[in-house]
Amino acid sequence: MVKYDVAIIGGGILGTSISYWLSSLFDMQVCVIDKESDVGMHASSRNTGVVHSPFYLDPKKKEILAKSAFLSYDLWKALAEKSELPWKMVGTLEVALDEDQHKTLEKYMRWGIYNGIPQNELEILDRNEVIKKEPNVSCHSAVFCKRDAVVNYGMFTKQLKKESEKNGTKFLLNHEVSSIEKGPKINLKNNTNITANLIINCAGGNSLDVAKMFGMAQEYSDLHFRGEYWIAKKEHTNIVKTNVYSVTKFKDFPFLDPHWILRIDGRSEVGPNAVPVPGPETYSGYIGNAETLISKLSEIITGNAKKLLSNPDFISLVSKEWLSSISKTVMIDRIKQFIPKIKASFFSERGTAGIRTPIITPNGEFLPDVMELENEISYHILNYNSPGATGAPVYSAYVVKKLENKGFLDYTHNAKDSIWNFEKIVTQT
Ligand SMILES: Cc1cc2nc3c(=O)[nH]c(=O)nc-3n(C[C@H](O)[C@H](O)[C@H](O)COP(=O)(O)OP(=O)(O)OC[C@H]3O[C@@H](n4cnc5c(N)ncnc54)[C@H](O)[C@@H]3O)c2cc1C
Repeated sequence: MVKYDVAIIGGGILGTSISYWLSSLFDMQVCVIDKESDVGMHASSRNTGVVHSPFYLDPKKKEILAKSAFLSYDLWKALAEKSELPWKMVGTLEVALDEDQHKTLEKYMRWGIYNGIPQNELEILDRNEVIKKEPNVSCHSAVFCKRDAVVNYGMFTKQLKKESEKNGTKFLLNHEVSSIEKGPKINLKNNTNITANLIINCAGGNSLDVAKMFGMAQEYSDLHFRGEYWIAKKEHTNIVKTNVYSVTKFKDFPFLDPHWILRIDGRSEVGPNAVPVPGPETYSGYIGNAETLISKLSEIITGNAKKLLSNPDFISLVSKEWLSSISKTVMIDRIKQFIPKIKASFFSERGTAGIRTPIITPNGEFLPDVMELENEISYHILNYNSPGATGAPVYSAYVVKKLENKGFLDYTHNAKDSIWNFEKIVTQT
């Protein structure tokens, strides 16, 4: 059985970033185990690609995600410059459709400043100022955040893998973790196994299942919501030249309403919605495979998520999201509220869907922030949702510092040349 100092389960943007920090700071054997043929094949590539400025994140309820997103901005920019990866400043308009939503924008301005966004990069615009900036956007008012950029996070993850490999990290691709035994012994689906002094669970949509393999988080459950996109035909790509989000209607649920987004490759898209699906990889269809569907249904009927079924707001959200999945017109009508010129006929091709997997607490509520769990041999990161791609460099540094403080990383320090400055980051967080 091959032994590592640290084994990371999951080569998404989070697991790969953690491997980068560990391998650049310590003399240690690190491996990243992923079931796919490359890193970043799931949420880390299947997302909107926005480097978010956290003006819309409650600094109390989403403290970690907000701090990480704000501070990671400069790190991603530095990586893009050094590695010649595309980076496009597009800015974001967050629109309010009425006076009530305008109050939310005023709150966003306060949160944005509290979360560190410089005042000159965040402004509130009235209806006419918005029209002057974007003639096809119609709203009551908007927050404009100038610094928002778009990138390809899949490419960023692959670049970090290269940097981590230079420091000696082994990426064990096409290796699926199937169970954990005492020892600890990580059993893989190909009948081989691995051991490590510390196992870090960064398995994204499967992270709750992996935690349960360790006998942890038994009282939690999860739900999977597919975010779908439609791509604008070439001749309609430029009807709006900035990202446009709207104030979300269901504030207690962890999704933003579908938006107008610019992609790094020059396309424009609308999306994502949030359609409930049975599995973390049900990228098309609604029922996945029979086994996944049955197990998810019985989990919902008997578990914490059952309580959500009696919440009228949740039922209303789900019905709306289903309709916008089945009907392109319903999806585009959601955007029509602030881009009146838009028509379903402007879109003929679906974009790449991605799946978000929020964790449901024992009380039947969506967990608002990231959750970390540990025992003597393992550390688990659950509910690492949007804007998780934006925040990955800083959040992962923060996790490594925490692991060191807790005594999990008793190895010789051997700081190698790094694209990012670890000490500077962890003293800021
Ligand atoms: C539709 C959508 C839009 C989003 N938009 C944005 C955005 O614009 N900006 C932003 O900042 N964030 C966005 N996010 C959030 C962001 O993409 C995620 O927070 C982030 O990618 C999570 O990274 P991860 O590494 O935790 O998960 P993942 O990328 O899903 O990685 C988990 C990895 O674990 C592997 N794995 C799972 N189980 C096993 C197993 N048993 N054995 C071995 N390997 C396993 C998987 O193969 C996968 O590679 C969006 C997400 C979605 C879904």
